[in-house]
Amino acid sequence: MINKSAHLAIVSKNTLETKKSVDLNDYFISSALQTTLEFNELIAIFSNKIQSTIPHSGYEYENETFGLSINSGIATRHSFTYALKFEDQSLGELKIMRNSRFLQAEIKKLETLLVLLCYPLRNATLFHHALKMAYTDPLTKVSNRTAFNDTLNRELQLAKRNHRQLSVIFLDIDHFKVLNDSYGHACGDFALSSVASWIKQAIRETDIVFRYGGEEFVVVLSDTNKEGAEIIAERIRNEINSHTLAYGTNVLDITASLGVSTLQVDDTGTSLVQRADHAMYLAKQNGRNQVKAA
Ligand code: GH3
Ligand code: MG
Ligand code: MG
Repeated sequence: MINKSAHLAIVSKNTLETKKSVDLNDYFISSALQTTLEFNELIAIFSNKIQSTIPHSGYEYENETFGLSINSGIATRHSFTYALKFEDQSLGELKIMRNSRFLQAEIKKLETLLVLLCYPLRNATLFHHALKMAYTDPLTKVSNRTAFNDTLNRELQLAKRNHRQLSVIFLDIDHFKVLNDSYGHACGDFALSSVASWIKQAIRETDIVFRYGGEEFVVVLSDTNKEGAEIIAERIRNEINSHTLAYGTNVLDITASLGVSTLQVDDTGTSLVQRADHAMYLAKQNGRNQVKAA
């Protein structure tokens, strides 16, 4: 049987030389924290592994950068909150809670254990930052086509499993080539970011906008039927139509054509998007700056 209070020399070139040793229990915590890059799992593992050393009844973890607010257990009278940092990088705030007061020795121990959490949290931060970049369109800062494919597949499965409605809006900016050709590519880029932010202003918090390609955007509306989707599409159309783009001394009007489709029993992601695209094409044919449903 392993004696947990024993000291363990980690055998490597450096540690052998320096004869550095660590508490075996700390080593187990560290190893467990190497098994995941998910914030919620890291905090849960940490809480679980320190439970015998520092008994506690709950924890809260906030990470503003990734919009995380995780809590477990019950809120109590006594708590200790730590703002975790690695060099200049914020790793969030962790609060450990329990009913009885923490002893000084426990606080000291907790602080040494928190050091074990910092590297895994830093790795999780780097990983999630890279993931975020891979899913974000650099120009408009909305989610990109890769993110759209993943989200659509997920939403499609959820909608089918739970017998829920699902709608998609396909949006294409009208006469965008003219804008590019007349005022330059930089103006076109400015128009694209502006349209992305106007779309965001017009949709609900649960709706997600993606840049599909060039001057095309899609919005995924979970739990939304045809009528609901048409209302939101019309709101987006109106938001874009009611704004003007101030570019240097030019004031430019921008409009968009939108197509709406709603999930049918035999739909795949591709057929759902194709119908929205086709409806958008009908809106173009019918004079642009309007919404059509498939
Ligand atoms: P329609 O009303 O029929 O949609 O006409 P349109 O001119 O918008 O359509 P078309 O597909 O002919 O032109 C799209 C243009 O979008 C052509 C391309 O140069 C431009 N474009 C695509 N991606 C970007 C981008 O990232 N930045 C800029 N500035 N322009 C882009
Ligand atoms: Mg287009
Ligand atoms: Mg266009």
